Amino acid sequence: MRPEQTQLLDTLRDRLGPHAVLDAEAVAERAQGIWRPTPLVARALVRPRNTEEVAFVLKACHEMGQPVIPQGGLTGLVHGADTGPDDLILSLERMNQIEEIDREGRTARVQAGVLLQGLQEAVAEEGLSFPLDLGARGSCFLGGNLATNAGGNRVLRYGMARENTLGIEAVLADGTVIDSLYGMVKNNAGFDLKHLFIGSEGTLGVITRAVLRLREAPRSRLSMLLAVPDFPSVTALLRHLDQGLGGQLSAFEVMWPEFYEAVATAPRCPAPPLPLGAPFYVLAELLGADAARDEAWAESVLGDALEAGLVSDAVLASTAARNEALWALRDSVDVLAAGKPTQVFDVSLPIGAMGAYVETVKTAVAKVDSSVKVFTFGHLGDGNLHFVLTPRPREAEGVHALEAAVYDPLPALRGSVSAEHGIGLEKKSWLGHSRSPAEVQLMQTLREALDPRGILNPGKVC
Ligand code: ZN
Repeated sequence: MRPEQTQLLDTLRDRLGPHAVLDAEAVAERAQGIWRPTPLVARALVRPRNTEEVAFVLKACHEMGQPVIPQGGLTGLVHGADTGPDDLILSLERMNQIEEIDREGRTARVQAGVLLQGLQEAVAEEGLSFPLDLGARGSCFLGGNLATNAGGNRVLRYGMARENTLGIEAVLADGTVIDSLYGMVKNNAGFDLKHLFIGSEGTLGVITRAVLRLREAPRSRLSMLLAVPDFPSVTALLRHLDQGLGGQLSAFEVMWPEFYEAVATAPRCPAPPLPLGAPFYVLAELLGADAARDEAWAESVLGDALEAGLVSDAVLASTAARNEALWALRDSVDVLAAGKPTQVFDVSLPIGAMGAYVETVKTAVAKVDSSVKVFTFGHLGDGNLHFVLTPRPREAEGVHALEAAVYDPLPALRGSVSAEHGIGLEKKSWLGHSRSPAEVQLMQTLREALDPRGILNPGKVC
């Protein structure tokens, strides 16, 4: 290390305390993420306890030109928080307080290092709900959810992280604190600055605190697993349920048959809840206010769908245990890998084009390597599909060829190479498939304006 770098770490230790700064050796005792057990690499890791300390760290790094990689729960899928030996990690792990839950205003003020699940449980005790929900809920930080504009299973009804955030506090690269911690739904007093930072993947500032929007907790939950005869019936069924359930439809997930067969059979599932062999399976959820009334309602709407031929078979789950059992199928993505490396995709496109698009992708993947299996599923109600391809090719060339198979049809459909996972490093070379040169230039202009020395998450996104 150069003397000025040693001096920077000494300055940070003096101000934040010796336990707040880990050296490279201590950093290597940590893993790169919940999906990657390999040792974390960095010059140092700094763990501030409050916004003032974050501002102090960034100001000092800005003056030195020291690259800073903000890190949350390390559950991301696009290498958006990857580090190198010269980087300094800014971990929000010690900013983990829920500062206030306002029952009347239906808001929560939180620090960036609060776990998503921690907030969900805390507000449930108040009869409230924070509807953002995703598989990594027990490990991901709310600051990371906002920095990546996380989506998940209930976007159809409640929107992504952006739609559930009322205010934020962020620290710019030079240490300037932007206090935009408002708790109002409506606020058109000039630019809505929080949206600059939400979804910026740690490139425009470090989100330190937020005011989140809460909803009344639903009193009933009902899930339905439905077998559907063809793709046009899947889209017609979405409209039928959304119309028939009067705004209570909260999720509409689709599983292609290869996915369903893998998750609904042994060893993961002793017996499939619906027989194998249907062309599509839909997992839908209704969040309502009265269990008995909702069940009668859902049965009547489903009866119409069966009669119209949109659905060929159905299972309803209204108890907590049966709801969980159906959702466990959708969350069993890990069984697809069967111990082999996978390549995971997350794309957006118009719903009407999805049936044909998936067939195009399968044909293109088979041309690259006919031994690669394609599992398709996703949040169809949001226009968002995921693919898990396995086994992942060993050479970069093979990985690229599979990426091309998935991404190349998207520009003609005005689709996106990233629906909810972000760009990070993994999708950076594909950004031009979804964004025009003028859009990418504007992103770079914003970065230069807010972080003129380019210290924040350099090399990521654009
Ligand atoms: Zn997803």
